[in-house]
Amino acid sequence: MAYDTNNIFARILRGEIPCKKVHEDQHTLAFHDINPQAPTHILVIPKGSYVSMDDFTANASEAEIAALFRAVGKIARDIGAVEPGYRILSNCGPDSGQEVPHLHIHVFAGKKLGRMIAKD
Ligand code: AMP
Repeated sequence: MAYDTNNIFARILRGEIPCKKVHEDQHTLAFHDINPQAPTHILVIPKGSYVSMDDFTANASEAEIAALFRAVGKIARDIGAVEPGYRILSNCGPDSGQEVPHLHIHVFAGKKLGRMIAKD
């Protein structure tokens, strides 16, 4: 799938749409999800133009990959989620229900999170 430069996260990265930022570094931005599914629901995204986890793991540099996962861990520590626990999730492609075609890792925390995948 070609990268759509007008997807909502690309627009956030360009500063065209506001976000509630929680972390930024050279390669990564993180902000609160606009429609939280848990008391804390943060999205961690690469600044590079990657459609999905598939695109990212095939084409991103080692520095970009390290930065994204380091950011996830740091954010979880910073919000105090390590001890009570948290969940990360990244939807990739149609079967997953991915809505925004720019890679994002969801970080959920703040309550017991229940089943990993809902029953059909
Ligand atoms: P996914 O279904 O995995 O593609 O997740 C997309 C996520 O992006 C959803 O949880 C949305 O609530 C979230 N989202 C969409 N637009 C925005 C926005 N402008 N700011 C923050 N989160 C957003």
